[in-house]
Amino acid sequence: MNWVTLGKTGITVNKNGFGALPIQRVSLDAASALLKKAYKSGINFFDTARFYTDSEEKIGFALSSVRNKIYIASKTMAANADELRKQLDTSLNLLKTDYIDIYQLHNPGFCPKPGDGTGLYEALLEAKDKGMIRHIGITSHRLAVAVEAAESGLYETIQFPFSYLATDGEVRLVKLCRERDIGFIAMKALSGGLITNAAAAYAYIARYDNVLPIWGIQKEEELDQFISYINEPPVYNEDISRIIEKDRKMLGGEFCRGCGYCMPCPSDIDIPISARMSLMIRRAPVSVYLNDEWQEKMKRIDDCFDCGSCKSKCPYGLDIPRLLKENLEDYRQFI
Ligand code: SF4
Ligand code: SF4
Repeated sequence: MNWVTLGKTGITVNKNGFGALPIQRVSLDAASALLKKAYKSGINFFDTARFYTDSEEKIGFALSSVRNKIYIASKTMAANADELRKQLDTSLNLLKTDYIDIYQLHNPGFCPKPGDGTGLYEALLEAKDKGMIRHIGITSHRLAVAVEAAESGLYETIQFPFSYLATDGEVRLVKLCRERDIGFIAMKALSGGLITNAAAAYAYIARYDNVLPIWGIQKEEELDQFISYINEPPVYNEDISRIIEKDRKMLGGEFCRGCGYCMPCPSDIDIPISARMSLMIRRAPVSVYLNDEWQEKMKRIDDCFDCGSCKSKCPYGLDIPRLLKENLEDYRQFI
């Protein structure tokens, strides 16, 4: 069985964390069954967020009886100290607990520090002093913010997208966290659905002993796959190396990661899928994205009026309107 220790927090958990964003999309009973099965199978790290609607509530409902046997990480998008205190109270209440193991600032556009005027870091310290949170973390999609957070020494964990499609800068961030004894929590280890070979994704990350991947889980078969890795972790070998190289060639460079930060779009365009449709139709079963519903959704790209709202929010600096148009053209030809 593979374990990972999250830096100086000392938290040591199974190397398959449960990403609880997707359980928002299933019923309370279905989510509860997934969470309980995960726990019983050895998964003991659960990552959620105040922003994930009822995800915290579902975790509280399913796992409060085993609270002291699991680790919970949650997040806040609060912009100031008052909001943070309120959100933390809500999270504790919904999670049915009196402490959160790792409380993370959720993708702030900058690296919050003491004295920066927001009061965020001071509020985190206050919550830690009161025992409401045990460790302070930050999540980011922006490399510069994550590097600044790692170098600041203020954060015990950093959550950042990391997969075998990582750039050199992202690999350097993982190494920096290792040097500074900061826990590295990897989100988007399947790159938002673009990586379809989970075993290859696992085997790549397994080579970094300081990285904890959290897998977004919505269906039982997804959970079963990650449970199987607990006893039989996929190993990096020549076959897997070939798969990774092929994917890197196909997917490397400028592509949409499906994070959704660019939403909403005033023209109701589903950007996180539409902006990478060319890849999706070649990687997912064709029927999923060629149906009437998706043809109608893709047609909305014609309504883009270049307002720029999405572009200003994309952490990867993508030229979204151009990407959308290219994807629409390709989609039409593909059909
Ligand atoms: S630029 Fe186009 S795609 Fe982006 S938010 Fe505006 S209308 Fe939507
Ligand atoms: S376009 Fe950018 S912000 Fe929008 S989903 Fe893709 S990567 Fe995320």
